[in-house]
Amino acid sequence: MLVACSTVSMTGRRQLNIVSEADILSASLTEYQSYMQSATKSRDAAATAVVTTVAQRIAAAAEAYLTAVGQQADLQNYAWEFNLVEDPQLNAFCMPGGKIVVYTGMLNLIGNGPDRDDELAAVIGHEVSHAIAKHGQERASQQMLASMGSSVLSGVVSGASSQVQSAVAVAYGLGTQYGALLPFSRKHELEADYMGSVLATLAGYDCDAAITLWQKMEAQSSGSQPTFMSTHPSSTKRITELQKNNPQVKRDYAAAALFPSSTAAAAKATTTKAKGATAKSSGTSKAAKAKSTKATTSAKKSSTGYRIGN
Ligand SMILES: [Zn+2]
Repeated sequence: MLVACSTVSMTGRRQLNIVSEADILSASLTEYQSYMQSATKSRDAAATAVVTTVAQRIAAAAEAYLTAVGQQADLQNYAWEFNLVEDPQLNAFCMPGGKIVVYTGMLNLIGNGPDRDDELAAVIGHEVSHAIAKHGQERASQQMLASMGSSVLSGVVSGASSQVQSAVAVAYGLGTQYGALLPFSRKHELEADYMGSVLATLAGYDCDAAITLWQKMEAQSSGSQPTFMSTHPSSTKRITELQKNNPQVKRDYAAAALFPSSTAAAAKATTTKAKGATAKSSGTSKAAKAKSTKATTSAKKSSTGYRIGN
């Protein structure tokens, strides 16, 4: 059956996929391998270890979640890979199959402060959510429908065809210009934001770091728009949704966290108690304002060229 309607388990949203899981995984792997051949992996071992550690925990959270909801079959062909790639753009992605790439530009924006791992978890959690929610598959399906019309529905597409490869290349934007990722839809973005908070919480991170991260991005965007924001359109709506949903996410998932929040907690132990109080009372406008001010300050610091691992 080529045309399949499935459900995103975390949100209950129905989606239409006309490309099979196997074909998407195969085509995505080809795209990923092609990209990595031209990419320059960071030689900063410490920074790479930071990304790997956070990504491994997010991947474990994704596996645990999908297993818990009976969708572990979705991960049978996943072989997680974690990369830090030299690229000044503020971006990151996760291909279907679990191939995670974080650009050094993103890591530099995050900086080396106490919220580093939590903010990185927000980025990676968001990107892994796009993958496990099959947003790329959905987008490739839409791309194929647009380019091929009803012939797709009559069963023209089968196997890992060149059409599938082409649709995946277009869906990810990696085929023609590496790193020029196409924007996901607003619907996909909000879904990935929500799911990213769930994964971050399950991985033992503070999901409110997503809010400060997007605020950092906005602060950074004065003048020219960062790549991440053009491919992941930021908006007041997104921050508002995170502020609205995160308290419930914590209530629902924090007790099920796979890892103690020790990594973040240890780092945060060096910060002021005011920070801890802010985290606990997040959601109030006062706390949000305090965090916003802090984020803006951090972004200004990071734009001076501060680098992780140096
Ligand atoms: Zn996104």
